Amino acid sequence: MPIRHIRQLRDRVPTMHQRLMLLCLLSISVLMVWPQQKQQQNLGVVPLVLGLGLQHGPAQLQQFPVTEITEWLYSKTQTTPPEDPYVKVYNIESGDSLSRIFARYGLNYQTVQQVMAADESLLALDVLRPGNRLTLQLDDDGQLQSMELYVHAGKKVLYKREAPDEFSYQELLDEGIWQNTILVGEVFGSFYASAQRAGLNDADIYNINQLFKDRINFARDIQAGAQFQVLRSENYVGEESTGQSRIEGIRILNRRQTLSAFMHDDGQYYDANGDSLERAFSRYPLNNQVRVSSHFNPRRLHPITKRVSPHNGTDFPLPVGTPVIAPADGVVTRIENHPFAGKYIEIQHFGNYKTRYLHLSRFMVQRGQRVTRGQRIALSGNTGRSTGPHLHYELHVNNRPVNPMSAHIPLARPVPAESKAAFAARVKQLTAQMEQQTLLAKQQSGEQEVAD
Ligand SMILES: [Zn+2]
Repeated sequence: MPIRHIRQLRDRVPTMHQRLMLLCLLSISVLMVWPQQKQQQNLGVVPLVLGLGLQHGPAQLQQFPVTEITEWLYSKTQTTPPEDPYVKVYNIESGDSLSRIFARYGLNYQTVQQVMAADESLLALDVLRPGNRLTLQLDDDGQLQSMELYVHAGKKVLYKREAPDEFSYQELLDEGIWQNTILVGEVFGSFYASAQRAGLNDADIYNINQLFKDRINFARDIQAGAQFQVLRSENYVGEESTGQSRIEGIRILNRRQTLSAFMHDDGQYYDANGDSLERAFSRYPLNNQVRVSSHFNPRRLHPITKRVSPHNGTDFPLPVGTPVIAPADGVVTRIENHPFAGKYIEIQHFGNYKTRYLHLSRFMVQRGQRVTRGQRIALSGNTGRSTGPHLHYELHVNNRPVNPMSAHIPLARPVPAESKAAFAARVKQLTAQMEQQTLLAKQQSGEQEVAD
């Protein structure tokens, strides 16, 4: 009965175009009804669709003029560009190594070495992170011409073949923009769980703990019902988050005590009164001040190739076995052995500071270990590509290498007198914004309760 009804309807439709439209509409409506029909074990609709399909078979469809629908269908099947056999895109997975990835594309270990030599002053390829991406460009002979490491929308590194046995590197950085959000919450259970509920990530919470480490014991002293207000800034390039975030201000309103921290324009944290919350940083990662044999120089020319080959650190000539000490508290993030950097350590310090120590002879810490200022972390050496026994020391601020001998380092001093007024004004403004947000959140949760 339904089939006859459709046939009659069809006979009144004048053009093939409209018939096709009708077929589409019917198929769509049948498909929408189908899941329900299937549940009812009524499969009568299936022959209906098949029957219609057969009547408007492929032979007839080919005679149709190109309509908007067929154009659209055509475009859907033709958008994939032909694959370039010389471009290989590889998404890095956990446990990957450069040599394993290169072997996959028929590239030999010599090429791995050449690329790693180019990466010596950056060490971007030494620890490959899942989610990062490599794009390799090969030539007719299957040799690597260039490679791009995609870290996030704001950071790419390009390695390019300059000579049969040499690659150069170029960092493509985009600062993007920082977008602020105020997150507020109340402590129920642990501070950690409460902060997570409010939208803070593990790194944020770790930094908050570090900020107030000397002022409060988070496990013991934070009372239930304590309010917290956080001004969090997140980095975006275009629409895409780079995954970088920082805390620009925080207040914890405990019963008898208000803890606060605000980032000043020098990148350091102070409380609302302008007293430093940083732990002091030593200028030298050594027990004694020593001579510098090679200075930090972002525009150093390579003596042989005459190309710009930055020296991202400071070199101290030292006899092998000289103790190297942590210049500030931190966590050991890398313990690696690189063909050119040798045995090296990286430490992530509080806030935006990171340090690296190259050409070591012996490690005295492990990855993941917390270290304190003045702690012995390694013995200096002459490992990797080194012209003689020395320590190559790097200081990174906000992931950029800076001159360790002249950079601003936290000295645990109050806000400088000349910027005290500006700091106080900013604290006042941010505090008002945070209070407003807390009020808003309370109102909303009040409304929620009424609604429930
Ligand atoms: Zn050096």
